[in-house]
Amino acid sequence: MTQARGEARRAPLDASSSGWRASVLTLYPEMFPGPLGQSLAGDALRQGVWSLEAGNIREQGLGRHRRVDDTPAGGGPGMVIRCDVAAAAIDAAWPLPDARPRLLMSPRGEPATQGLVRALAAGPGVAIFCGRFEGIDERVIGARGLTEVSLGDIVLAGGEIAAMALIEACVRLLPGVMGKDASRIEESFEAGLLEYPHFTRPREWEGRAIPQVLLSGDHASIAAWRRAEAERLTRERRPDLITRRGKQP
Ligand code: SAH
Repeated sequence: MTQARGEARRAPLDASSSGWRASVLTLYPEMFPGPLGQSLAGDALRQGVWSLEAGNIREQGLGRHRRVDDTPAGGGPGMVIRCDVAAAAIDAAWPLPDARPRLLMSPRGEPATQGLVRALAAGPGVAIFCGRFEGIDERVIGARGLTEVSLGDIVLAGGEIAAMALIEACVRLLPGVMGKDASRIEESFEAGLLEYPHFTRPREWEGRAIPQVLLSGDHASIAAWRRAEAERLTRERRPDLITRRGKQP
């Protein structure tokens, strides 16, 4: 089991720590923390705001070769992660009681939304199983209470990058991770709208000027312009978000 430095440093200080905990089961634990060790998430990891464990499913593999997969029942291409191996990995790495939701990254899952991210970030953390090959034996999903979550209608080669994306989205919402709290309230999706466009210096670039209102210093007009732009962009690009507004948790 690989322990990221945030966890290792914090553990001796406070073994029963209340920090947000992410545990991942994967065939490639060396992929972690990867990008989660950089920038804001990495700083917060080293400060012990959150912790990360990446366990290797292969530790529970069968036989001398630590085999984790087998051919699909009914035939067809590819390989499937065995339910007995997956369950043994889960039971060893995520002992109960554990209040954290158990997720399986899966293109068949509920599409991840900022509402889901907010709910996960507000809880004790998350335990995520990363699939590989064709996926995992269906029986373990029910038997170990895994909730399938998708990163979107794309097919990745494994759940690791999807897990990292979900964890990063949660970590940036943890108290103290982002410098200015306002900068996450106004972002895309937080109000059920896409974000308004941003500009910075220079004032004019390749013949393109910053919209005059943003240079006016009139805060009410700026707020109104941004709101109108957010609504226009959402109507044009993601009308589904407008229909869904109010229904978000
Ligand atoms: N045979 C599957 C695809 C398997 S891809 C199918 O057709 O649906 C291998 C693994 O990558 C999956 O088990 C899952 O863990 C991960 N994965 C692929 N696409 C994903 C997505 N959009 N969201 C989350 N995880 C994904």
